[in-house]
Order: sequence, then structure tokens, then C-alpha cells
Amino acid sequence: MGARGRGHGRVIGDMTDRAGTAGRGWRRALVTGGAGFVGSHLCARLLDDGTDVVCLDNLSTGARSNVLELDRRRRFRFVRGDATDEDAVRGLPGSFDLVLHFACPASPADYLRLPLETLDVGSNGTRNALERARRDGARFLLASTSEVYGDPLEHPQTETYWGNVNPVGPRSVYDESKRFGEALVTAHRGVHGTDAAIVRIFNTYGPRMRTGDGRAVPTFIAQALDGTPLTVAGDGSQTRSLCYVDDTVDGVLALAASEETGPMNIGGGDEITMLELAQRVVELTGSRSRIRFVERPVDDPTRRRPDTRLAEQRLGWRPRTGWSEGLERTIGWFAQAVAA
Ligand code: NAD
Repeated sequence: MGARGRGHGRVIGDMTDRAGTAGRGWRRALVTGGAGFVGSHLCARLLDDGTDVVCLDNLSTGARSNVLELDRRRRFRFVRGDATDEDAVRGLPGSFDLVLHFACPASPADYLRLPLETLDVGSNGTRNALERARRDGARFLLASTSEVYGDPLEHPQTETYWGNVNPVGPRSVYDESKRFGEALVTAHRGVHGTDAAIVRIFNTYGPRMRTGDGRAVPTFIAQALDGTPLTVAGDGSQTRSLCYVDDTVDGVLALAASEETGPMNIGGGDEITMLELAQRVVELTGSRSRIRFVERPVDDPTRRRPDTRLAEQRLGWRPRTGWSEGLERTIGWFAQAVAA
């Protein structure tokens, strides 16, 4: 089944015109976690597409400043509240035809600091958001993650791979919370017929990431701009496949506009070692920083690369932003944020 309008007048477009893409045609969207890194880009894109947006966020890892600019737009509303609070989600006024459940601490530094909250938002938070979507007859999307594949024994990872996750390791609070969320979405669809889909997002980077969140791109960029050594974990040979945030948003909204249920991988195809990434950041910033090798975190995955053929075939989606372009834009944003 291909991506198509689903009675909401939505049009996918051919994905060559980013301005008029996938979210078009939604009347009113709820974005939980909308003040976070990915969520704030989603809110902005939906507004650009003419959708009214309610952003529900408890600001545990996000920032009000991420969506301050959106306050000026008539169609945007920020609500400070917790997705795990049933009344807060149920009590949001009006009705939605799209619910994007993105609330969840997402960087290792955050979910290790907030382990119980992470499990809670993946379970109770997902249930509340699903219930809200069911009540309103809305399309629902769960932001799941490549972390459901754990330290993968299959490479690249296809959606049919079940993963290699340590259920009691330090990362389990995140991995298992998302795995539970996926099970909940699947059960909700089966029991209630909720129009729900799962997107498995791989590492995404771009403006509005936080420097202190422990993720490689903002960490390296901040260190390079500071002139301090770039801290590469282990020997730096572990790989990630990073996707620029605009491409991730395209993929998420294309899936939302389709009738696909997923799980569907959305992620970058260019696999890069952490050492190469650090070296590129040094080059692009013109920094004099050196590289310092530090201890590797427990259960840090060795290889990560999505197989995105499903998204290509069903949605016509593929990442389009090259490394240099994406990193340059991100570095530009960080340089400005540091200067401000
Ligand atoms: P982020 O931490 O920047 O954003 C998460 C947002 O959720 C924050 O604004 C935070 O305040 C909010 N939040 C957390 N718990 C909440 C709760 N109980 N109620 C209301 N709001 C709450 O992280 P991100 O990188 O933007 O990730 C967003 C989503 O995408 C997450 O669900 C994450 O698991 C998923 N994801 C992200 C990536 C990535 O590379 N960024 C990769 C895979 C999956």
C-alpha cells in the first residue's frame, strides 16, 4: 500500500518539494514532546503546512526556547503538562486528527538521569496519547527508535529484525520503554482499531540539539567550537548512521500521511565511524581541537545502519541532506547559539 491521502485531503507530493510535503491537510495536531529537539522541528513543519498545533511538554529535557518563535504564530499553542498524566492529555480542549507521541527523554544522559520517568512516558504516556487518538478518531504515530534493535546482530537493520537488547542493562529503561510502547500500539490497533503507526527513528542531528546531552554531534561541535579535545568513546570505530532533522521530519510526516502501520525505519544511509565524525567536525569548524579517546559506555552499540527500503518503497522517502551540508547547518546554528 502506498502513501496517499486518507480522506483528510492530504497529499504526499513527490518529496522533491520540501515546502509542500507530507503533513499537508491535517486540521489540528497534538505533538507530545513538541518542545524537544525533533518535536520542535515537527511543530514548525506542521504549522508551515497550515495545521493547528498543540505542543504538550513537561520541559524535562526540552526547552521553552525551542518553540518560543512559534508562539508568534496564531495556530500554535504550548501547554506545559505531562503525557503520563491521564487528565492532562484527556483534558486538552478541542479535538485532534493527528497525534504524534514524541515525549520521552532520548539521549543517554537524559534517560540515565530519568530512568523511571522514561519507562513511565513509554508506557503510561503512550497509553494516554493512544487513548486520546482513539477518542478523537485521530491518526497516531509513536516515535520509536533504532534502540529497539539493541546491539544488533543483523546489519543493516531491517524492520523484521527483533533486536538484541539487554533487558536489565543501563540502556534498558529507554529500549524496553520503546519496545513496550510498540507492543501497546500494536495491541491498541488490534483491540480498538486505532489508526496507529510506529516509526523507528535512527540517530538524528541538527539545530536545537543540546550540547550537554551526551550525543556525539552536539558534543563534538561544542568541543570543537570551544577548542577543547573531542572526546571519542572507545577507539572510535563504532558506527552510526545519522540523519539530518529535516529529512527525519519528512519521513515522519510521510508515514503519518500514509496508511502504513509500520514499524518503519527512518534514518540516514551513510554509516560513519565516531572517529570519522569527530574528524569531519574538526575540519568543518576549522578547530584546532585534538581527539581524546575516553571509556566507552556499557552496551554502546557497535554498528547501526537502517535498511530504509521499506520507507523508500512505501513512502517514496529517502534522506537527501548530505553530511557536509547537514553538519555545516548544525555547526552554524551552534556557533550562533554560543554567541547569543
Ligand atoms: P528531546 O529530549 O529533545 O525531546 C523530548 C521531549 O519530550 C522534551 O521536550 C521533553 O521535555 C519532553 N518530555 C519528556 N517526558 C515527557 C512527559 N512525560 N510529558 C511531556 N513531555 C515530556 O529528544 P528528541 O531527540 O527530540 O527525541 C524526541 C522523540 O524522538 C523521543 O521519543 C525519542 O525517543 C525519539 N527518537 C529520537 C531520536 C534522535 O536521534 N533524536 C532517535 C530515535 C528516536
